[in-house]
Parts: sequence; C-alpha cells; structure tokens
Amino acid sequence: MNVKEYLASSSNQIVLSHFDADDQSLAPEGKKESKKELKSLRKQLVKLQQVLYAESKHKVLIILQAMDSGGKDGTIRAIFDGVNPQGVKVASFKVPTPLENAHDYLWRIHQKVPANGEIVIFNRSQYEDVLVVRVHELDPEKVWKKRYEEINKFERMLANEGTTILKFFLFISKEEQKKRFIERLENPEKQWKFNPGDIEERKYWDAYMEAYQDVIDKTSKPYAPWYVIPANHNWYRDLVISHIIVKQLKSLKMDYPEPVENIHQYLDPLQNS
Ligand code: ADP
Repeated sequence: MNVKEYLASSSNQIVLSHFDADDQSLAPEGKKESKKELKSLRKQLVKLQQVLYAESKHKVLIILQAMDSGGKDGTIRAIFDGVNPQGVKVASFKVPTPLENAHDYLWRIHQKVPANGEIVIFNRSQYEDVLVVRVHELDPEKVWKKRYEEINKFERMLANEGTTILKFFLFISKEEQKKRFIERLENPEKQWKFNPGDIEERKYWDAYMEAYQDVIDKTSKPYAPWYVIPANHNWYRDLVISHIIVKQLKSLKMDYPEPVENIHQYLDPLQNS
C-alpha cells in the first residue's frame, strides 16, 4: 500500500479543499477483503507492541485530530484492539482545567508523552491550541501564531530523545458529519454521544479547515509527519492508519532483549526443585 499520497511533505502539499474524504483508491479489493487485511495488521501490531514493550528502548506517540464525529474514538478501538494495555495509553485533551490554564499550553501535553517501551495515543493534542483557540479567538493571533514554531521545536526535541511521532488528521466531509450527527440524534445507542455544542461548532467548518490547512503546512516534518486520512469510510480509515503504524514500527527493527547469560543452566535446578 503506497500511503505517500496521504503524507503531507514539501514534495506533496495536501490541499484540504480538494481532498477526497471518500477516497478508497488504495484498497481496490474493497471492504470485505480489507477487513481481512486489517485483522492481519492488527495481529502484527500486537506482536510489534510486545517487542516494543519488552525492549523498552523506543517511545511512540500517535496524535489523532479530527472534526467532531470524525472517528477518533472508533479508530482507537479498531486499531488497538487486543494490544497489551500495560504498554499502550490513551491521553484525551479536553477544554483545559483551571490548573492547566494557569500553565503554558504544552505543560499538560508533556506530562503525557510516552516513556521507553510505550505507545501513547493522543485523542486531541497540542494542536487544539492552534485550532479551536484560533477559530474562537481564545487567545490573540500574536499568541497562537508563535505556537507552530514552538510545537515544531517541542516535537523535534521529543524525536531527538527517541520518540517516533505519527500525526493523523481524520478527514471527513461536511456532508458526512451531518449524516453522523443525524445518526446520533436518531439512534438510541448513539444519543449519548450527541452534544448540542457540536451543532454550533459545525458553523465554523470553513474556519477550521483553514486552521487545519495551516497546521498541516507548518508542522508536517520528517521527524513528525502529518497524514491526512480519508475518513468517510471507517474500514478504509482503519486500514490505512494501521498500515502506516505497522510499517513505522517495523522500521524500528526492534528485537527482544538478550536473555541472561547461559539461560539454560537455570533449567536443571528448577526441574529438580
Ligand atoms: P471529543 O470531542 O474529543 O470526543 P469532547 O466532546 O469532550 O471530546 O470535546 C473536547 C473539547 O475540548 C473540544 O471541543 C475541544 O475543542 C476542546 N479543547 C481541547 N483542547 C482545548 C484547548 N486547548 N482550548 C480550548 N478547548 C479545547
């Protein structure tokens, strides 16, 4: 699967206004076959995560951003199903608490970054401070404008210290969001997800797209790349993201740590004990 077309880079500028949220071009075999592939990727991910945890050398940070109903929760469920919960954590960033607000915007973020051997998934992130904060003018422009560079430096530091960073913007269309909100209103099992504020937020769609475009243009770096994922179809979104994560973990060339010397010598006394 050649996922390069979803990777924002200096040689591949992604323009959100032309991006197809329905795209399924990397899965020509369709949904049924792709679900099988997803299963196999999940198995690989479980194994890779085991070695990551055992080796305790690398840190992995996965950032998920999306518009409301964009599928962050579903992605986490689908992709990390079955991994060892000891080594995988999810950190969700909501409206800052008074304590968080009394600090700089990276304070709460830094506390949650992965340690050696861990995968941490950020459900929202430091990017809210140049997204919702920008769209709703929660801070003046001269404050949030500096943050792109600050975030780049922060991520550069994390990468220098051994963190693999992958950033995903789950891209749904405005039409798809409407469909998902209607489903939330009508389906009793989904009504709990409905938040009246989401309707108000939807009015700012274009401003969010502009803000996301800037995020992608200014903060996609080789050491912390942004992938824009077509997310109207959950199965396709899960397939592409799993693929990218598995490929990245494989490239770390991890291995189980060396066992203690002459490990077999311990077998005899144990069997005779
Ligand atoms: P989610 O939509 O992620 O499932 P919520 O419905 O609780 O979770 O929404 C979290 C809210 O917190 C979002 O509206 C988001 O914009 C907001 N938020 C996150 N970070 C910040 C921030 N730094 N400043 C202001 N609002 C933020």
